[in-house]
Amino acid sequence: MFTDAVEILDERFKRLVFGNVRLETLWTGGRWLEGPAYFAAGKYLVFSDIPNDRVMRFDETNCVVSTFLQPALNHNGHTVDREGRLVSCEHRGRCVSRIEHDGRRTILADRFEGKRLNSPNDVVVKSDGSIWFTDPTYGIDSDYEGDAAPSEIGASHLYRIDPATGAVAAMATDFVKPNGLAFSPDESTLYVSDTGASHVADGPRWIRAFAVGADGATLSGGEVFATCAFGLFDGFRIDARGHLWTSAGDGVHCYAPDGALIGKIRAPETVANVCFGGPKRNRLYICATSSLYAIYVNAREAPRPVRPA
Ligand code: MG
Repeated sequence: MFTDAVEILDERFKRLVFGNVRLETLWTGGRWLEGPAYFAAGKYLVFSDIPNDRVMRFDETNCVVSTFLQPALNHNGHTVDREGRLVSCEHRGRCVSRIEHDGRRTILADRFEGKRLNSPNDVVVKSDGSIWFTDPTYGIDSDYEGDAAPSEIGASHLYRIDPATGAVAAMATDFVKPNGLAFSPDESTLYVSDTGASHVADGPRWIRAFAVGADGATLSGGEVFATCAFGLFDGFRIDARGHLWTSAGDGVHCYAPDGALIGKIRAPETVANVCFGGPKRNRLYICATSSLYAIYVNAREAPRPVRPA
């Protein structure tokens, strides 16, 4: 009934995929693709090709992929903020930056307690304008995806940039290598992956779930939500009904809000990150090693909660 790309593990997944829809290969030729972010107004997707030090753009109107930014300071994760601006994690810049509407680059965070960040990896903007990002060492571990350097902080944390003051606060300090992150549709839960198994034998290969405090600026909990059965969870997104669509070694794994693995979109290459796009935000873009893939699903990106008064 379903194409080869779809693997049903739970009846609930059948409602999220289509029987006649295939995985499309949109582009190939990268080395390690990451950081997809969709610009609805421009009908295009940007994504990183980290080792090639470039950010690419897929134009939905003509299906052309072109270079968006090069050199790109080895950008990794991207997101689009509420004002439609690109927010970037820069490995080589060792910072989180933003491209303003006039094209200028603003550095939003490059230090914590006076020490340089490691290499920001992935980022999300909350409805209150706060910016949450992870800071593992992948961009300073070698010269392949950044500039090799020792960690000044000596650890890899989850951080929040305050929208009013710009202050950078550590929100969780017990990660080995924090990586992808996303809020639940109502922003009551923050999910953060830990890919520490890349550095520590039998280390973390899971996604944790934190309860977000009523003030939107505190976290509690942090228990393991799901453990990756194949490869590592890198980046992920959450749809409007709370399903978590995450990267994994053999494709995209889809989890129900209760933590059950309900299905997979199999991909021919290791997946690093995904992003909803298209006019209805029901097209799942997939950054997988050397290639950009996409598949239409019966799920869509959650509309952002109304900004608090
Ligand atoms: Mg990542």
